[in-house]
Amino acid sequence: MWTPNPAMAFLSTLFSPRILAATAVALGFSLLNAAPAPIKVLIVDGQNNHSWKETTPVLKEILEASGRFQVDVATSPPQGGDMSAFKPDFAKYAVVVSNYNGDAWSKETNEAFEKYVHDGGGFVSYHAADNSFPEWRQYNQMIGVGGWGNRKAPESGSMIRYRAGKVAIEAVPGRCGNHGARVPFQVTMRERRHPIAKGLPKVWMHAGDELYDSLCGPAQDFTLVGTAHSNGQNRGTNEEEPMLLAVRYSNGRVFHTTLGHDVAAMHCVGFITTLLRGTEWAATGKVSIPVPPDFPTAQATSLRK
Ligand code: ZN
Repeated sequence: MWTPNPAMAFLSTLFSPRILAATAVALGFSLLNAAPAPIKVLIVDGQNNHSWKETTPVLKEILEASGRFQVDVATSPPQGGDMSAFKPDFAKYAVVVSNYNGDAWSKETNEAFEKYVHDGGGFVSYHAADNSFPEWRQYNQMIGVGGWGNRKAPESGSMIRYRAGKVAIEAVPGRCGNHGARVPFQVTMRERRHPIAKGLPKVWMHAGDELYDSLCGPAQDFTLVGTAHSNGQNRGTNEEEPMLLAVRYSNGRVFHTTLGHDVAAMHCVGFITTLLRGTEWAATGKVSIPVPPDFPTAQATSLRK
């Protein structure tokens, strides 16, 4: 039978629980309401056909404002520069977020990154990061599917679609990577038991953005978390195309979001929330970041500036 410590019982008659907690902290007990240490994130950038100088600070701000992450940035030399000096210390971080779409890294850096994810490091491929490195087999395995960079099916792999209630993997011959004009569109969550998706509405309206279609790649060991309908009247495929993917690469977890072409699209609370939860999942395998009350509905976008 549990009996109260007489000294504590006496103290609690004198002091409120808050004062006792403060006293415990002052005495070196940090067990009361201790916040978890922030997750260390490395954003890689430096080359992109997108405005990475505008979007990296927004990624950093979104991640740090959640209180869950502490973010460093590794910027590569510009296009055509000497990439041999670009050697981020990936192993210092729980998760790497790529805002990079450019020249091949050195063999040494590629191998360090492969080892990092293989050993359990997290990776987040953000928007045009899935355009990068068409020739790097392991990278394409990590992202599942990618586009542009002369990728074509079936040589570069297969497309992932969602059709008749099921994931469909198929290699439709042709170029991989396309999008129509930027418009708001609905994202539909397809695996709602996945930690990233748990508690999100099944359908939510994303702010004006590029809707990537016809991405192709190895398409292995993935969970199709979210899709969007690619509208044939907006140069699309009339297929449910992957927007959010969770990929396993050996011991590592990869969150792949195709969303967030520009700062305006990144203001979407759906983008913000899935980025935060996807990054946390890639780093830890779990999600503690809640779905905020201003999350978009099926019909209405929700923006945070
Ligand atoms: Zn874009």
